[in-house]
Amino acid sequence: MPRAQTTPNESRSVFVALVGRPNVGKSSLTNRLVGEKVAIVTQKPQTTRSRITGVATHGAVQYVFLDTPGIHAPRNRLDARMTQTAAASIKDVDVTLMLFEPAGELTQAEAAMAEALRGAGPALALINKVDTLRSFAALEARRAYLQGLGVFDDVVPVSALDGTGCDALFARLAPYGHPGPHYFDDEAFTDMPEKELVAELVREKALLFLREEVPHGIAVTVTRFKERPDKDLVDIDVELICERRSHKGMVIGKGGQMLKKIASAARADCEGLLGVQVNLQCWVKVRESWRDSEKLLDELGFAKP
Ligand code: GDP
Repeated sequence: MPRAQTTPNESRSVFVALVGRPNVGKSSLTNRLVGEKVAIVTQKPQTTRSRITGVATHGAVQYVFLDTPGIHAPRNRLDARMTQTAAASIKDVDVTLMLFEPAGELTQAEAAMAEALRGAGPALALINKVDTLRSFAALEARRAYLQGLGVFDDVVPVSALDGTGCDALFARLAPYGHPGPHYFDDEAFTDMPEKELVAELVREKALLFLREEVPHGIAVTVTRFKERPDKDLVDIDVELICERRSHKGMVIGKGGQMLKKIASAARADCEGLLGVQVNLQCWVKVRESWRDSEKLLDELGFAKP
């Protein structure tokens, strides 16, 4: 049952865990729900620690979709605000969505997963890929079967492919939200994991090549992260933010050599991790004492605790 009674215009967040067997459509559905292609998340190696796969804000309600309700360990001080605010909630999502194929027997793993959800908090069953179903009767049979497991509050048919049922799903999720300010910008960093990862890689290279010259006062923020619709290529713009004017020149280097070196090393790593071609553009800016400025942290997109 929904945890909190909220009025329609009251600010709230819904943390949603997506589970289900491989290929059931978790990435596709996440993309569909956040309205942006974040599927390269799935191409990342397991080593990636970030678990946030998508954020969608509809008016007063912010939905945060997570691949597992697990740990989101802080990686560095730059995402401290985010992890600080998210960590507690991720452990304890508001609702879990378990995706199912529209037909066929459940695998053993699926049955075990569904069983594990029993009594572990609210859960909804999603019948995905309903676009492949030929008859209403087949859908109804599937619905009755899943409802009969006695684990799920409700069964919602969707298609990640054509968007069928997604509005209904949002409406069904909203009541599970908990009141309070949104955890992320309403403009939604739907692709936060990649952005975080890219920012982290660029920062790593900057620290590596600059050594002690420009110490830890560098922030890296991704200002654009767009996948080209027609090819496996992502355009990424990042800003390297220095605390002091004197540092800017060092980061850029003679004839731009240092910045080129940082960008090219970071690009190689980004391509390896994201599994797609990356067009990486780096810019250097000075924001004095950004680390101590709440205002600048806001501008940099770190949501307030
Ligand atoms: P994941 O492993 O659970 O993340 O699954 P993916 O999102 O990678 O999807 C696995 C496959 O199922 C891909 O080929 C998708 O195109 C396909 N797929 C996902 N959702 C749908 C859907 O709603 N309808 C149809 N027809 N195919 C889908």
